[in-house]
Amino acid sequence: MFSAAEVMTTEIQLPDWPPRRLVTETVLSWGFRHLDEESIDCDSAPWPVIRGMILAFLRHQLTDFDARLRARCEHDPGFRDGLAQQIEQAAYHKYPWLAADPRPFGPKSGDSLFLDSMAKRLADLRGIRDQLLSAAKHLRRTGGSRDHIATLQSEAADIAKQIDGMYAFLTKPKAGSNADGEWARSFMHRRDGQRRKWEYDFYSGELGEPLPPNRIEYVGIQCPRCHAPVVRRKQFIDLGQGYNRVSVWSCHCLTYAAHQAYGWRLAPVTFEELEEMVQHTEPSERENRARS
Ligand SMILES: [Zn+2]
Repeated sequence: MFSAAEVMTTEIQLPDWPPRRLVTETVLSWGFRHLDEESIDCDSAPWPVIRGMILAFLRHQLTDFDARLRARCEHDPGFRDGLAQQIEQAAYHKYPWLAADPRPFGPKSGDSLFLDSMAKRLADLRGIRDQLLSAAKHLRRTGGSRDHIATLQSEAADIAKQIDGMYAFLTKPKAGSNADGEWARSFMHRRDGQRRKWEYDFYSGELGEPLPPNRIEYVGIQCPRCHAPVVRRKQFIDLGQGYNRVSVWSCHCLTYAAHQAYGWRLAPVTFEELEEMVQHTEPSERENRARS
């Protein structure tokens, strides 16, 4: 038998996660380990079910519960239950919201800044990749099916590719200079009239509410693709991740945003540049074929 003192003196470290994150990661982690079972919905599953999953997640993924049991060598249910109880107590202490259902979580905060939400997504993807790899490792150790392990590994590899792409996108320099002179980073976003209404879009929030006329100016050129006059938003916008002085132009099919470093004046967008952007954002051959 274990001695109570031995268990109770070891500190349990739990992460500082808000309810939404702990619930989401728990459910994701559970899903990766139970690919053959019906998935659990983190918004609607009964709270006691989710809470049980969270406590198991804390034991097996976020604490050294398994390692301590292995170190103990012999099968000792008393030690195991004591440790589980200790983790449960630590969990209720750290996350008082476990006692009552904290859902629904309400709208996500901080999503309005485009690049910030991308950085957040990147962090989420890293979490998902780690969960997949850890689930695969667990299955290998416990003699899980090869197919199951291979599925987890190939999903982890796909996500790793996405992570690399997003990381490269987010960490590119904002501005610099080359043989042609100084340059600032810009972003082009082509909108698809089939999936979304063709209209002006200045990164003005998810609702895409039109800006009042006094906050925009017509720049005197017309888009060769959607034929809408090009409009510039008068004020800078903040895209997050340090891009806090960004000028935005829009027609109905394209949004162009350019970072403006302090002390710089961006040259006005010319028709030739717009033509180039339109060409650059034409859907590829493959997309065309898929659509027809
Ligand atoms: Zn256009």
